[in-house]
Amino acid sequence: MVEVEKGLYRVTFSLPLGIDHVHCYFVRSSKGGFILVDTGLGSRDPEKRWRPVLDRLDGPVEAIVVTHMHPDHVGGAGDVAELTGAPVFQGRIDHAQCALAWGERNPQLFAEYWASHGMPRETIEGIATESGRLVDAVHWVEHPDRLLEAGDEVDGWRVDVLPGHADGHIVLEREGVVLAGDTILTGITPAIGLYPNSRPDPLGDYLESLRWYEERAPRVAYTGHRDPVADPAARAAEIAVHHAHRLDRTEAALDGTPLSAYEVSLELFDDDLSTTLRRFATAEALAHLERLVLEGRAARVGTSYTRAGDTIGA
Ligand SMILES: [Zn+2]
Repeated sequence: MVEVEKGLYRVTFSLPLGIDHVHCYFVRSSKGGFILVDTGLGSRDPEKRWRPVLDRLDGPVEAIVVTHMHPDHVGGAGDVAELTGAPVFQGRIDHAQCALAWGERNPQLFAEYWASHGMPRETIEGIATESGRLVDAVHWVEHPDRLLEAGDEVDGWRVDVLPGHADGHIVLEREGVVLAGDTILTGITPAIGLYPNSRPDPLGDYLESLRWYEERAPRVAYTGHRDPVADPAARAAEIAVHHAHRLDRTEAALDGTPLSAYEVSLELFDDDLSTTLRRFATAEALAHLERLVLEGRAARVGTSYTRAGDTIGA
């Protein structure tokens, strides 16, 4: 456990995913205990994972806050809640998305979605196998004690909703410090993808979220992965430029023939990606294609995409 700021402690767990680690944070509360922000993946042996961590705290865990419903953030929420008896707080929108993804779980919907966007059958089967494995590590909480919305407060931390990486992603902000989840990252850019059941323009949402960082210009953002972001406004501006370039490349990849999002993803990303990364790449291509459609730079033909103007008069 590392004290990254006075009263803010970071714990890092290894991950067997595309990224090899995730950070969780213990924040000293006004009552002398701790608020845990994010929980890593669910564990088969929660006692073994969490007891050494909890034993190092000189006060109780008073609340558990989940920033977003991805497995590496919400996955351990049920485990720690059970071990500590602490209430769980989650964003209202995020919890609804979490219930759809991990409660109702509809692999068929996803299989049809990927197929409609041109993904080959072997890749779709690989994704289904992986997500079936992942669901066992998502110990989400069906009835959180509090559903948070923008403007709420948790022990002096202001809640905001910054969609893009996840529809209902929340952050906590206090005195220039942001507990940011995956809304902004150092060295890598948060994955922005379009999935079934999600808001229609995640990239547009995300560009707004980046503007939040540029306007607020917090001193530092503590993130779910990698090093903290030391100048979040500058990093947000960099990430916005990255997406502007990717939008240009996505537009350039389109030609007179309608292309599926999968085909476009082959142009944008390496073609030897793992199944998981190909899923991200296709969802990311979709987010950029839909943004281009909204900007009048691309057009939809069925579930495929073409240059804007190519369909005029057709
Ligand atoms: Zn993450």
